Amino acid sequence: MIRFNNVSKAYSGGIIALKNVSFTLAAGEMAFLTGHSGAGKSTLLKLMSLMETSTSGSIHINGTSLSDVTYQQIPYVRRGIGMIFQNHNLLMDRTVFDNVALPLIIEGYSHKETKKRVEAALDKVHLGSKLKSFPSMLSGGEQQRVGIARAIVNKPPILLADEPTGNLDPKLSLEIIRLFEEFNDMGVAVLIATHDLGLIARLRYRTLTLKQGSMINDGLIEGMQTSG
Ligand code: ADP
Ligand code: ADP
Repeated sequence: MIRFNNVSKAYSGGIIALKNVSFTLAAGEMAFLTGHSGAGKSTLLKLMSLMETSTSGSIHINGTSLSDVTYQQIPYVRRGIGMIFQNHNLLMDRTVFDNVALPLIIEGYSHKETKKRVEAALDKVHLGSKLKSFPSMLSGGEQQRVGIARAIVNKPPILLADEPTGNLDPKLSLEIIRLFEEFNDMGVAVLIATHDLGLIARLRYRTLTLKQGSMINDGLIEGMQTSG
């Protein structure tokens, strides 16, 4: 699904954001990506979604080598990845339905097919009754679930989340992670970038840890307290 082989990224100005990073995430796997601010988490996610390009090394996403992707092919690669953001990037002047429908409208789905898929996506995040609401009428947790519905509406095999629980309390954070687990159980690969060590400790998933651009740990973080 995702394969990084010796990937480095230097930004103009000389900052080396990633150094020789290698890992794979298989279909149906779920992992956390953690590390302090500036460790390189966002850079890693941006490389996967082709918002940045690597300086060296190779990246494969859903079998495609990103170094072979032409500018015209970028949308096809991105279609295989659902992205979820901390601030969910919803259009506040559009209904929940319209927000979730957006990726399908861009792809030219028929009205009928769009309706069917949007309703199914909203059911999966338990918001089937909020089609006509505007995001401002929803709680923070519900808004994040709309963001998740939009990310999964065209059924990508990979979900990438950048601090998806950053604005949520521990209970709502757990609900969001439980949703990711439901997609993961259906075979979707899920990578969640987070600072939230409490969440990581409670859930005990594989955890990729970056420090100053290097991958210093890949696996369960041992010795972490799981109380609370
Ligand atoms: P649960 O008790 O919630 O069923 P599992 O141990 O089955 O948890 O792990 C759930 C997911 O996390 C699986 O997709 C598994 O591949 C992944 N996972 C958990 N721990 C690790 C690990 N140490 N290394 C690799 N993958 C892991
Ligand atoms: P994280 O998401 O873990 O906070 P980032 O990937 O955002 O880390 O940043 C890693 C390093 O790269 C930091 O030193 C950051 O300042 C630098 N960086 C990030 N984006 C850019 C950019 N567009 N230009 C130059 N440096 C950048």
